[in-house]
Amino acid sequence: MKKLVIIGGGFAGSLIAKNCENYFDTTLIDSKDFFEFTPGILRTIVQPSHAKKIQVLHKEYLKKTNFIRSLVTNVDKKYVSVKDKKIPYDYLVIASGSSYVRLIKELDTVLVSRIKTLQQNYDKLLKAKKVLIIGGSFVGVELAAEIATHFPDKNITIIEATPHLISRNNPKASTYAEDFMKKHNVKFILEEKIIEKNKTLLTDKWRKVNADIIFSCVGIKPNSLFMEKNFKDKINEHCYLKVNDYLQLAGFNNIFVAGDVTDIKEEKLAQNAENHAYLISKNLKLLLKNKSLIAYNSKPRIMVISLGKLDGILIYKQFTLTGIIPGIMKTVIEKMFMRKL
Ligand SMILES: Cc1cc2nc3c(=O)[nH]c(=O)nc-3n(C[C@H](O)[C@H](O)[C@H](O)COP(=O)(O)OP(=O)(O)OC[C@H]3O[C@@H](n4cnc5c(N)ncnc54)[C@H](O)[C@@H]3O)c2cc1C
Repeated sequence: MKKLVIIGGGFAGSLIAKNCENYFDTTLIDSKDFFEFTPGILRTIVQPSHAKKIQVLHKEYLKKTNFIRSLVTNVDKKYVSVKDKKIPYDYLVIASGSSYVRLIKELDTVLVSRIKTLQQNYDKLLKAKKVLIIGGSFVGVELAAEIATHFPDKNITIIEATPHLISRNNPKASTYAEDFMKKHNVKFILEEKIIEKNKTLLTDKWRKVNADIIFSCVGIKPNSLFMEKNFKDKINEHCYLKVNDYLQLAGFNNIFVAGDVTDIKEEKLAQNAENHAYLISKNLKLLLKNKSLIAYNSKPRIMVISLGKLDGILIYKQFTLTGIIPGIMKTVIEKMFMRKL
């Protein structure tokens, strides 16, 4: 059997491993020993017991795949290097995704420590009276809504640099999110940025902000560092990996790239990562049979932003649906994905 090595066990990597393990001698390398449903992580911040519903050890859903828990440090045309060894490959899939602040997306950890981190943060949140959320895009808004609906007595402030909350989406969605925050006494300060993070926080308009706990909800960064030594020309100026129409690393037949780390111009979404995974799984099997590959067709996706358990916003291009249906949809999507694994 040909050797398939997959870097990263997020949405894309875990599905590719599951879909391909019967066809290839498959190895999954992930810096975590578990899959975590990232969109559900914000609920675990206010309800740590929710973590059991969104985390699963890789060895529990992969039957034939060899699993290595390690951080990949380098890749060349034949091998993937981890701390103490080199793993040869015939086919390689890079699905290393993106990094975010540690609490929300932890890069190098095991399940027991992850649960401990979430619990420690929860204990801190319980004691906090004043909560500051830096960033009012969909992550900051969802987190503020989770905290406000679980702990209505907390004094919550969002600081957002643009003129509106979730400003990248359509105006109706922003208005709904802003009205929700007003209704739940969440203060939001727009067009200001945090410039200093001492004991007394300051915005660029010299406003002082106090907080007992701070959640930073800004700054997604693609995980492509291990490609710098041998594939520097395949990394674009924003650190994404350049792919062709078939999701192959530009210029390489046997290396595929999936999920957040690709340079495809589309929202970095789990749904897109899943679609890349299905296409790459098919293309890998087609390569085995020497058949023509299928091209990736990027499409606008439905985005669901939850506002606590029972409210939310569904956005599809210029269409917006608000209220309980999108609120519940997020939980349904989470259950369906976890069942799939
Ligand atoms: C708070 C939050 C909420 C979100 N909500 C939604 C939503 O509602 N709907 C939606 O569609 N999308 C949502 N997203 C986006 C979605 O989570 C990402 O698009 C998705 O996780 C991308 O999947 P991926 O497989 O590309 O990468 P990731 O999920 O980032 O997985 C990458 C994996 O690779 C591992 N890894 C990284 N570097 C290395 C290395 N050097 N060596 C070994 N392993 C490595 C990581 O540990 C990780 O396990 C949300 C994101 C956040 C942060």
